[in-house]
Amino acid sequence: MKSSGPTTSSAPPDASGTVALRLAAPVLLPCDPVCSVIRDGVVDVDADGRIAWVGRESDPGAPAPPAQVRRLDGVLLPGLVNAHCHTPMIVLRGLGGDLPLMRWLTEVMWPAEARLTGEDVRAGMLLGCLELLSAGVTTSVEMYFYADEVSEAVLEAGSRVVLTPGIISAPGWDRLGTWQQMLDGVSARIDSVGLLSGPGDRIELGYGPHAAYTLPTEALTATAAAARERGALLHIHLSETLGEDAALREVHGSVPRLLESLGVFGGRVLAAHAVHLDDEDVAILARHGAAVAHCPGSNAKLAAGIAPVAALRGAGVPVALGTDGPASSDDLDLLRQARLAGQLARLTSLDAAALTAAELLLLATRHGAAAIGRSDIGALEPGRWADLVHLRLDDPAFVGSADDASLLSNLVWAGGGRLVRDVWVAGDQVLSDGRSTRVDRAEALAGARAVAARLRT
Ligand SMILES: [Zn+2]
Repeated sequence: MKSSGPTTSSAPPDASGTVALRLAAPVLLPCDPVCSVIRDGVVDVDADGRIAWVGRESDPGAPAPPAQVRRLDGVLLPGLVNAHCHTPMIVLRGLGGDLPLMRWLTEVMWPAEARLTGEDVRAGMLLGCLELLSAGVTTSVEMYFYADEVSEAVLEAGSRVVLTPGIISAPGWDRLGTWQQMLDGVSARIDSVGLLSGPGDRIELGYGPHAAYTLPTEALTATAAAARERGALLHIHLSETLGEDAALREVHGSVPRLLESLGVFGGRVLAAHAVHLDDEDVAILARHGAAVAHCPGSNAKLAAGIAPVAALRGAGVPVALGTDGPASSDDLDLLRQARLAGQLARLTSLDAAALTAAELLLLATRHGAAAIGRSDIGALEPGRWADLVHLRLDDPAFVGSADDASLLSNLVWAGGGRLVRDVWVAGDQVLSDGRSTRVDRAEALAGARAVAARLRT
């Protein structure tokens, strides 16, 4: 990214001076640039919820253990980063399953979403946060409406969000105001609470202009200017299907060319999907430091196409992984998306080494964080937030994992969210042996079920 993330998110290691907790595990995956595997490793967490030290327990340089040492029996790795999602759409899961994007949006999703209240969105987000945490996803980049309710659900579940409230001008959406009002609402929110807020900086705000085909050009320019002015992430759907932007393509050649001519690039830009790109489009994204959220499951289900991940990465475009919303993907298991990304990359290139297991794990962690401009999450390194996931090793996937290459291979090619046991966000344990420590799952399920049932009447 040309622009780095919110500056207040970084802090010196062990800022509090106190190590509150040590987690020890037989396998540690810090998700450093070379995707190391550390056997018998420890992660020290300070009283502020940041990582203070990472390494082998037997390292002569290891600090003395704090009073509280928790011994785990599985794999410890950073919380996963889901770079494109509309989690409250969990209540719409199962609707319009066999339709292409534009019919799916205009005939099924938008009419159903027109009936959603803020409380409905809160119910969907709350259950969705539990689903994300259960899959090891600690951070999700969300484009949705009713920002207050989305934030409240995130804080209740204890997860982390980059919330980019939607800005759209499309049939039915004027009930939430004009695009200008939506844009001004996001700017006012950021100016009021700042880019980062909540315990452990759990909420980051950005802008979510829906797409070039659902907004007038002046809205795209104005939103980009507002985002750049505040150092905020601009999160937009880009070139997802061939049909959505046919009119724009005819006039401008492509949406990236249009966005460049409008001055949309230059700040922190995250393009979701980025499927239908030619060489010049890839070059445009690269020269402006724009990042891509690759959503292979959603693209497959909606028959959108396959993003040119190798070309993007080859050009230096930061690539992250996203599930997209649970109404189009429909699975929020990011490790499964990593596996699918690898499978599709290999199928399209006929190269069995395209995207290795290590590269795929980094896409879901370190590189995902970098793509959204965050250097304070996505890896186990001193100074970053202690967003941690503990996976069970007592699973058939890991029968042969004595060597490091097999362990990584087994995690990515045979693993998945089912392995997740415990999750911490900013040092707080939010999932314990698969159960939320904060939210009654049965109640959350009942709340979302009631919304889903009403939407189907
Ligand atoms: Zn989307």
